[in-house]
Amino acid sequence: MRFETKLIHAGQKTDRDTGSVNVPVYQTSTFKQDAPGKSRNGWTYSRSGNPTRKALEDCVASLEQAWGAYAFASGMAAETAVLSMLKPGDTLIASKDIYGGTYRLIEKIIKPSGVKVLYCDLTDSKNLEKINRSFSMLWLETPSNPLLKVCDIRALSDVCRRKKAIVCVDNTFATPFFQRPLSLGADIVVHSSTKYLGGHSDIIGGLAAAKSEGLAKAIRFYQNAAGAIPGPWDAWLTLRGIKTLAVRMRKHEENALAAANFLKSRKEVEKVYFTGLKEHPGHETALKQMDGHCPILSFELCGGEKSVKRFFSKLKLFSLADSLGGVESLINYPRIQTHAFLTEEQRLKLGITPGLIRLSCGIEDKDDLIADLESALKGI
Ligand SMILES: *Cc1c(COP(=O)(O)O)cnc(C)c1O
Repeated sequence: MRFETKLIHAGQKTDRDTGSVNVPVYQTSTFKQDAPGKSRNGWTYSRSGNPTRKALEDCVASLEQAWGAYAFASGMAAETAVLSMLKPGDTLIASKDIYGGTYRLIEKIIKPSGVKVLYCDLTDSKNLEKINRSFSMLWLETPSNPLLKVCDIRALSDVCRRKKAIVCVDNTFATPFFQRPLSLGADIVVHSSTKYLGGHSDIIGGLAAAKSEGLAKAIRFYQNAAGAIPGPWDAWLTLRGIKTLAVRMRKHEENALAAANFLKSRKEVEKVYFTGLKEHPGHETALKQMDGHCPILSFELCGGEKSVKRFFSKLKLFSLADSLGGVESLINYPRIQTHAFLTEEQRLKLGITPGLIRLSCGIEDKDDLIADLESALKGI
């Protein structure tokens, strides 16, 4: 099956008993056994496995070209499953621009368990080659949040293969529609399915997918042992969202490109960060490893926090909210929302300035979105 057929059919068989074309919501905690230890088709207890969740997992495994994918109650729970493979004394290298929640998880939970952590600017793979100590895992997020920095997955994976380290890529921003890290040499992919995979801002969820049977089984073991699984309804909603991933992503991308070009043309805007712009530092690498541009963009408004607040107060279609990747357009102020727990100094080092705004363009009419941005810019 090609990608867009997989979205509709992978893992999603017609129900044998009823012919239901959609996978039913198996809202059950347990399954009747015919005799002690004799389950029907392997279903025993919904933490260990549930048919609705399995349909989602098999679909995502197919999309990411993985041996197996496993669903979790949130993106953070999926990340915890992967990072828990690290043992005391192991070294983790993470890119400097990882999602704030991932940074917090690493700093407050993984590091205290005895794992050594190094942060590195991975937009240049030479920086990784220069590190002359052994490490067990590399954690990448590309494109990154909120400045859309791009790392070369293949080049970094090649370095890691020589050093015998596992490569994990947070593929939340690109989705498998635009980027398949396992085909570029990575070993594991994680997702916050809360974002584009679910696509409708109505669930919290996560997935972890692995290329090899060994890594997949380790994640599967953790999923059952630690137990942070999604319920059948959330799994079903995620799968329902995934069906339209291709059409949504194309429209998101079209709207984001239009917004980026519009913002670039405005005197109130100092700088626009979007991988689809030729002048973006990650543009070439993005073209090489992605089939399209991640529809998130950020921009620097002149006049700092005061202008930003006036701008927000004038918007009518873009909602000021955390999260991204839903059908509705959202806007975010990284300094006070996603990156609030960093110090101002740490934020400035990362490029999170007082004028920085992140946009997640939805799939509304692009002229309406641009008109909204235009009238808010005039309002400042
Ligand atoms: C939102 C997000 C996460 C965390 O996922 P949750 O579903 O909120 O737990 C991780 N990585 C990225 C890139 C995200 O955007």
